[in-house]
Amino acid sequence: MNIFHISAECYPIAKVGGLGDVVGALPKYQNKLGETSSVIMPFYNNKFTQSHTFKRVFSGRFNLGRPFGFDILTLEDNTLGYDLYLVHIPDLLYTEYVYSSNDTERFLGFQIATLDWLVQLKEQPNIVHCHDHHTGLIPFMMSQSYAYHKLRTTPTVVTIHNGQYQGWFSHNKIHLIPPFDFSKAGLLDWKHLINPLASAIKCAWKVTTVSPNYMEELKYAANGLEDLLRYESGKCVGILNGIDDKIWDPATDDNLIQNYSIKTSASGKKANKQWLCKEFNLNPELPLFAFIGRLVGEKGADLLPEIFNNSLVHKNLSIIMLGSGDSSVEHQLDQLKYQHPGYYNNYIGYNERLAHIVYAAADFLVMPSRVEPCGLNQMYALRYGTVPIVNKVGGLKDTVRDFDDNGFGILHDGATVHEGSFAIFRAINFYNDTDRFKKNRNLIMKIDHSWDSSAQAYINLYNSLIL
Ligand code: ADP
Repeated sequence: MNIFHISAECYPIAKVGGLGDVVGALPKYQNKLGETSSVIMPFYNNKFTQSHTFKRVFSGRFNLGRPFGFDILTLEDNTLGYDLYLVHIPDLLYTEYVYSSNDTERFLGFQIATLDWLVQLKEQPNIVHCHDHHTGLIPFMMSQSYAYHKLRTTPTVVTIHNGQYQGWFSHNKIHLIPPFDFSKAGLLDWKHLINPLASAIKCAWKVTTVSPNYMEELKYAANGLEDLLRYESGKCVGILNGIDDKIWDPATDDNLIQNYSIKTSASGKKANKQWLCKEFNLNPELPLFAFIGRLVGEKGADLLPEIFNNSLVHKNLSIIMLGSGDSSVEHQLDQLKYQHPGYYNNYIGYNERLAHIVYAAADFLVMPSRVEPCGLNQMYALRYGTVPIVNKVGGLKDTVRDFDDNGFGILHDGATVHEGSFAIFRAINFYNDTDRFKKNRNLIMKIDHSWDSSAQAYINLYNSLIL
């Protein structure tokens, strides 16, 4: 089966969050299962594109208010485990950043250039799999735009990685979409705006979310799309994300200070913890708690300063925070460095290597999220022998079970300062029960969250669509 994943992000080419991790891994695992799965994404001006060489496979031009030329590029030397196609639109997409202020035009151009290329391929795709709202107009254009008539019988799947962001824009830009029968314009609309995510839910053959629980939650809280998701529930399904267990393997991860397996977890984690604590002036003898992520409301980041402050007054833990986002939260967290020197420190920014070391060094990872479509951090933590402390939402509920309920992690019921602080209190008691804590570490490292079964679940879904 010839599958094309279309996405704004794909690790290691460009990653902002979990979307990049998923699109960088899923096709690799689908290829291992015997399919032909490729990725199409924008050509950004970043480290990856600057340090690789590419060959052109197609050139074209499209109109988006004015004409734009584009090339489809592929790697000269590819070791990714899937074919990669990059859409290079020099005047529109070639920026340092994945997302910016004129994303409506940027991602419309990306989608149009992608379809202009796909429609003329000799071997047509069997499945077009779109990820998030940046590619959400593709199912509409494939089924309605005259120029892509040849693709109208090709099944489309859309995966919602985050339903909060929908990419809406005003109807006065409708002329930017390649011509279609105007009586079908309603398929683009949601609440008087053109809404790419809503349009994808209406037009795609199947809609998936990145965990089963998130699919259920979206029917009641989807930033305005609840009714639509309930109406379309017959074609919706939740498939839990996996993790790339080749990249995220503490035994081989070359980002780490010392590699370790289950057998050597005690000494391996200790070496990483000692390095990190030295680097950030923290006490390595205390249990180390970590947060990694975007500092936004969805992640419960605004709760962190108070949760951390409540816990730090007891001087019985160390905390490391890696993230960036809301500037007032960044500022409040940064202040904790001065209030609790030697017990709290942070790195405000994005640092892939440091994230790997933190997963390895920490004893606990906190995730007081309000919304968590799947959450990959808790799965990386488990693989690295770090106990996740999570609010019971979305994919966190699907992947973490409380140690007091025959489980292995810590769950709290509600994204509140009280719940988050009490969860840390429970975690310290758990840590002090040394034998139980050590046994638990070995147990969590064995949990299999690799992509194998989820990649197969997507293939089964595609097969159900192929006539
Ligand atoms: P999101 O909602 O941000 O996509 P996920 O849990 O699905 O959340 O994925 C987050 C991914 O981004 C993980 O790989 C995590 O390690 C990474 N990440 C988040 N913030 C940072 C950061 N500041 N530095 C390095 N990696 C980060």
